[in-house]
Amino acid sequence: MDIRSRLGLRPVINVSGTMTGLGASSVGAAVIDTVAEILPQFVEIDDLQRKASAVIAQACGSESGYVTASCSAAITLGIAAAMTGDDLGLIERLPDTTGMRDEVVVQTGHLVNYGAPVDQAVRLSGARVVQVGAATEAHEYQLASAINERTAAALYVVSHHTVQYGMIPLEAFIEVAHAKGVPVIVDAASEYDLTRFIAAGADLALYSAHKFLGGLTAGIVAGSKALVRAAYFQNGGIGRGMKVGKEGIAGVIAALEQWRTRDHEAVRAKERGYLTLWRETLNRQAGVWAEIEADPTHNPLDRLKVHVDPKLARTSAWDLADALANPPRDEAPVIVRDHEAELHFFYLDPCNLHAGEAPVVLARIVSELERAQAAPEPVVTPFHRRGARRLAARRTWPD
Ligand SMILES: *Cc1c(COP(=O)(O)O)cnc(C)c1O
Repeated sequence: MDIRSRLGLRPVINVSGTMTGLGASSVGAAVIDTVAEILPQFVEIDDLQRKASAVIAQACGSESGYVTASCSAAITLGIAAAMTGDDLGLIERLPDTTGMRDEVVVQTGHLVNYGAPVDQAVRLSGARVVQVGAATEAHEYQLASAINERTAAALYVVSHHTVQYGMIPLEAFIEVAHAKGVPVIVDAASEYDLTRFIAAGADLALYSAHKFLGGLTAGIVAGSKALVRAAYFQNGGIGRGMKVGKEGIAGVIAALEQWRTRDHEAVRAKERGYLTLWRETLNRQAGVWAEIEADPTHNPLDRLKVHVDPKLARTSAWDLADALANPPRDEAPVIVRDHEAELHFFYLDPCNLHAGEAPVVLARIVSELERAQAAPEPVVTPFHRRGARRLAARRTWPD
């Protein structure tokens, strides 16, 4: 029996992507085996992290690395490291930054929310965020003039959530920061390319272990030895509440090995198959237009962009997404990637599908579209009410 039924949970089908709210990734058998093997054992954590450092260094082309609780924790602890170095006294003083450089420059268009605001992950260390540029444009001269003797680090965020135009390119960002002697920390939580940011000169590159890597919930810090060591030492300070256990560290070691040996071409070909099947069928539905779109941050991953014309489809992108997530009984909830639904489209992300789920996804969408066509009135609710409705549904948790 599926553990989800045993716990009274809905058996969701995830075409949304790797989402913390949906349990992050589907952890592979090799990772599960490694984690099961280490769980009953005692180990010396410094040695386990030393082993992880070598594995991360190899995977990322960095001098060293370590594992923390999450990429969000890695941001906080990386910034803390830039402020304290390996001074244990300063590490215990945080989040009081008296006597330290404590400003972090970041482009305004990079201040996204990945489930929590990125600027809060910075502020949690005690640092202050100094915004560079406007929401939709930033220039190198603005970065240069934002950096002063109080600047501890420059943070660069790589994400589909950031503004995708008008920002300072990574290489130029690093050049300006390094010319002023400021280390660059790259939040690459969801990026498949493990070497690009270190190769470009980043002092730290931060990844989630539980996104594309298919590991346990953890964060990977890769970078220069001095900064990685200073970030690791934060475990004796503000990092204590963000600690990772032996299972998370062993999980990263196994996940990086699994990633190295994965047949990426075969996975992509399989996903292409799903996307093509969905596109051909959905393009025959009234008011729907679907196209395959490449990942905005250049991960080797495509998604199906499904446009919904409310007049012809008699439902909207957001009402369709909500209907898919809240099906009539006996049907699986299908969670689509809908954070831009007000623009009349959502995405189907194939990267987390289990065998046999692709046709179910398609059947559910077609059946909801047919239901809308047959309904006496169009199923179109005002978009501006959606946020309040969703919040109201959560307000009563845990009831
Ligand atoms: C997911 C994400 C994070 C947070 O990663 P966690 O490991 O889940 O804490 C941070 N930044 C970006 C850009 C993300 O996509």
